[in-house]
Amino acid sequence: MPDPQSPTDRDEPLSAPSAAVDSGTAQIASEAAEPDVPAGPKRIAVIFAHPDDAEFICAGAVARWTAEGNAVSYVLLTSGDKGSEDPAVTPEILVATREREQRAACAILGVEEVHFLRYADAMLVPDLAMRRELVRVIRRLKPDVVVCQDPTVRFVDQSYINHPDHRAAGEATLDAVYPAARDRMTFPELLEEGLEPHKVTEVYLAGAKDPDVAVDITAHLETKLAALHAHASQIGDWDPDEMIRTWAKETAERFPGNGEYVEAYKYFKLD
Ligand SMILES: [Zn+2]
Repeated sequence: MPDPQSPTDRDEPLSAPSAAVDSGTAQIASEAAEPDVPAGPKRIAVIFAHPDDAEFICAGAVARWTAEGNAVSYVLLTSGDKGSEDPAVTPEILVATREREQRAACAILGVEEVHFLRYADAMLVPDLAMRRELVRVIRRLKPDVVVCQDPTVRFVDQSYINHPDHRAAGEATLDAVYPAARDRMTFPELLEEGLEPHKVTEVYLAGAKDPDVAVDITAHLETKLAALHAHASQIGDWDPDEMIRTWAKETAERFPGNGEYVEAYKYFKLD
């Protein structure tokens, strides 16, 4: 784990997120980006609702960031205890299976730590108690960068209603990042635990409604697919490779000049 104070170029964005779809919101990321400048090791926290969520929408970037020497931790709000139709499977069995699969996926991606908060699957509510728990996690991990789900995605096209846990996880995480983790007088009980305020400086929203930066994952697509296949209990006989390749190719077409396979994010640089 790198010393959070030592790299002098810690303020540079990861993976030079300079590719904008359009002007407007993309301008912020473009101004912050300095392509080809080494990013320097950063601490990155990937905070998601369920095991396997991150592998679908951000594992390419995670694989790239770990390969570039950054320290990535995962935080899973639930352990996916409702994710089976098999009447012989109990929630306890499922939790053990899904946490094991998530650890295997993280090992493939080079993720250093996996933390399971074990909220009940399908029951996430972004209330103050959850915000405090995430502030506790953020103040412990001290990430420079947080990657989370986009709480504004309610549905996509005519075929997908976003899971309420995904929205809740994104909402609670953003609320914990700003301003609660940063502010000394918010949740004073955490100060009593020795958890000092912490400022996250970059946020990437994965699966975002209005993405404005591109991350070239061409060299890491196979690693992403391998990590996805670690979630064997969820994937079953279905082979997601074609769908994932198609998504990444279509995203690359939307963000030309960033490689054959791309993941896109909504990006925030917080001063
Ligand atoms: Zn999910």
